[in-house]
Amino acid sequence: MSRLDSFIRRLEAQRACLDASRALIAGLDGPILELGLGNGRTFDHLRCLYPDREIFVFERRPDAHPASMPDPDHLIVGDLEETLPGALARLPGPAALVHSDIGTGDAARNARIARWLAATLPPLIRTGGVVASDQKLESPDLLPQPLPDALSAERYFLYRRR
Ligand code: SAM
Repeated sequence: MSRLDSFIRRLEAQRACLDASRALIAGLDGPILELGLGNGRTFDHLRCLYPDREIFVFERRPDAHPASMPDPDHLIVGDLEETLPGALARLPGPAALVHSDIGTGDAARNARIARWLAATLPPLIRTGGVVASDQKLESPDLLPQPLPDALSAERYFLYRRR
């Protein structure tokens, strides 16, 4: 498989997981957390999926397409390792959905941040809330969920907070 094929499949899996989250969190109150703004494409998709929910975006260097920039009250600038642990104080309540897309080509760095996220995220999520992640997260508080049909295992990751 070429890198282009792999990239396209990753984005298809990402979109399918975000789309699937809508049914998974229906009836569950709470904001959405977007970890990693990047160009703002998934932020924009989440806005379309969830027009009535607050979406808080965490990003160390905001540089999105101008049409996909969160307003200042919903943009939390800084390194996640500094901004995420105390984030509950800034949110209206625990999150119903977290989308994390912060992986890089550095496998060792990805593994380290995945271990840190798995330990840090659960207190920020309400019971029954969902995490969609580009990295595998191993935590006794995060129950792996089946991926939407037609997605290969481990192309993206879905969890429900116990
Ligand atoms: N989902 C985005 C989109 O659709 O446009 C792409 C996200 S991009 C792959 C990853 C983003 O995460 C980058 O903008 C990077 O600056 C941010 N990021 C990575 N690690 C971070 C960290 N530790 N703290 C804050 N932001 C981080």
